[in-house]
Amino acid sequence: MSNLDLQAIIRSLKTVLPNDKESIALHEPSFCGNEWKYVKECLDTGWVSSVGKFVDKFEAMLADYTGVKQAVAAVNGTAALHICLKLVAVEQGDEVLVPTLTFVATANAVTYCGAIPHFVDSEERTLGLDPWKLLEYLSDIANVRDDGCFNRLTSRRIKAAIPMHTFGHPVDLDPLVEMCSRFKLALVEDAAQSLGSYYKGGHTGNWGKVSALSFNGNKTITTGGGGAILTNDEELGKQAKHLTTTARVAHKWAIVHDHIGYNYRLPNIDAALGCAQLEQLPGFIKEKRTLSESYRKVFEGIPGVHFYTEPDFAKSNYWLNVLLLDERFSNHRDVLLEMTNNDGIMTRPAWMLMHKLNMFKDCPKMDLSVAESLERRLINIPSSATLMS
Ligand SMILES: *Cc1c(COP(=O)(O)O)cnc(C)c1O
Repeated sequence: MSNLDLQAIIRSLKTVLPNDKESIALHEPSFCGNEWKYVKECLDTGWVSSVGKFVDKFEAMLADYTGVKQAVAAVNGTAALHICLKLVAVEQGDEVLVPTLTFVATANAVTYCGAIPHFVDSEERTLGLDPWKLLEYLSDIANVRDDGCFNRLTSRRIKAAIPMHTFGHPVDLDPLVEMCSRFKLALVEDAAQSLGSYYKGGHTGNWGKVSALSFNGNKTITTGGGGAILTNDEELGKQAKHLTTTARVAHKWAIVHDHIGYNYRLPNIDAALGCAQLEQLPGFIKEKRTLSESYRKVFEGIPGVHFYTEPDFAKSNYWLNVLLLDERFSNHRDVLLEMTNNDGIMTRPAWMLMHKLNMFKDCPKMDLSVAESLERRLINIPSSATLMS
């Protein structure tokens, strides 16, 4: 059995990365469009806060780009997810199916509703929720009744499933849609990482009853902090807007609220940044896909390591590029992380799996062996859109 050639991996990285920089970030934003102009307009006019024309414009541009009926801007992706779960009526004591390989916000949003995350496994082909393994598991443990789906082991209702498009790569949505309808589960897409990613020709976020986007600083486009709720259901879209804007009843001067709403509004000055960023998104995606193609080529010939490429049904934004070590070399992961970071090349492991975090360790879960293997072997490498320009 040969050894993993760590020097060859680092050499390959350096072939692709620019050599005139002291350090290279994992993902940094780029502001080369109308950012200054639009933000200046907010300052000049005084429209900086929670209403303004850029909020409306940003929502319209998002709906247009993703092909959904309605997009509702929110203060961040986690808040958007929280509202998504409210909209599909996730309640106190419900269980919600969440991949254990995800960013903590997916599981946190479930707990904000008083519900319990139920962790499910991933598949190596997509790095996301495995619909076939989940189908088999649910057939085993779930009881579908007129009033919903129930976990035989905990007697709790299983209300929804939140597939997440890991590092921008779409999960296999068709079988998931089928499974959710069979088990009476609401489908919510955590599309926080997948703006610009398509499944069988349609933009991610169109399959869930509602979906969430994020515009955090490290995402494909950024508003500083921000997010959005996407839906093709006009009624849910209206409710999303209402709930995120303190549930105030429209009136010329009276200040009346008809629900316990949330102040999850995206400020106009952030939306201004978002409009300028969205204008550049097609260019960012093109550059990111060119970068990933370069990575694919240089890692082709190196044994023991594999550059992850999109599944054949998808066109991915390649938000964060992924190297996967062969299982037999998983004990080299930390050495490689150490060497690259010491060398000014920012690399990161996957998030610690949700079921291993202290606050979630007692949550229900299925066999998670694929996600556990991915966690041992996965390394994210520099992925900024402007890295090669
Ligand atoms: C970024 C992200 C979110 C939302 O994060 P915010 O920082 O609140 O915008 C949610 N889920 C996943 C998987 C994410 O990567």
